[in-house]
Amino acid sequence: MKKRNKINVYREDPSKDNANAFFAKTIALYNTGDYEAALRGFEKLSEFIDTDLKIVVVPHIEKCKRVLEKKLSNSDKRHMKNQAILKYFGWVDKLKYFTGIASFIFFALLTGDQEEGITFSDNFSEHPSFLVWAIVLAVLTFLLHKFMKKFTVSEGLIRCKYCGKYTRYINPNEPTYGFMDDNNCGKCGRMYHVPDFHWDGWEGLDYMENRPSVPDEKFYSEYNKLKKNFAKEYALFKSVKEKEEKSEQNKHSPEE
Ligand SMILES: [Zn+2]
Repeated sequence: MKKRNKINVYREDPSKDNANAFFAKTIALYNTGDYEAALRGFEKLSEFIDTDLKIVVVPHIEKCKRVLEKKLSNSDKRHMKNQAILKYFGWVDKLKYFTGIASFIFFALLTGDQEEGITFSDNFSEHPSFLVWAIVLAVLTFLLHKFMKKFTVSEGLIRCKYCGKYTRYINPNEPTYGFMDDNNCGKCGRMYHVPDFHWDGWEGLDYMENRPSVPDEKFYSEYNKLKKNFAKEYALFKSVKEKEEKSEQNKHSPEE
């Protein structure tokens, strides 16, 4: 079984022993839209790791900063609070499945059997408590569902990497089959709004720009601004990539 990554990016610092796990945890935080924690992780990593690797996380650090500058609306604040509550008390909502099944079983035990000539009232007079249990558990199931609904409305939402508002999570790799509004933020309408470590890095951004993957002009102007502000880092990324591609080609082409 895969071990759970318990690294706390606020309390811990990257070290030789935990660097990989620290990086993996920070990427996971980023991909789940926890920009604040991800920013902390990326900043700590960029102090710790060597220069070549440091440039890798530049776009992500900038993305986190831009999102964190956005103001949260009241409903955004509510979603944030709900998700924090669900993180620790989400299991309470799951209880309703057990109480629901248990209630059903008690009801089922009371049901008569026509072939054997047993009626509901026969069963009931033998086990009157079964009906009480069935009803109590059914009411409990309903109340659990009703009570937890206040929090579970925030399930499956994520902060958009562009506008910072809570919106529906859509896998950034979900193909749109040419339909331009299939993978968009429900608030700002921009395409591919879910944070993703690969797509929001130099390589992913370059690919999206060259393709060009999205219809909105903002993407390209923002990316150009990023490349201008971090010209040195971008140039370094490009030269490393070119070197990699060259050595890859040499590997594949037979010697003449
Ligand atoms: Zn948005």
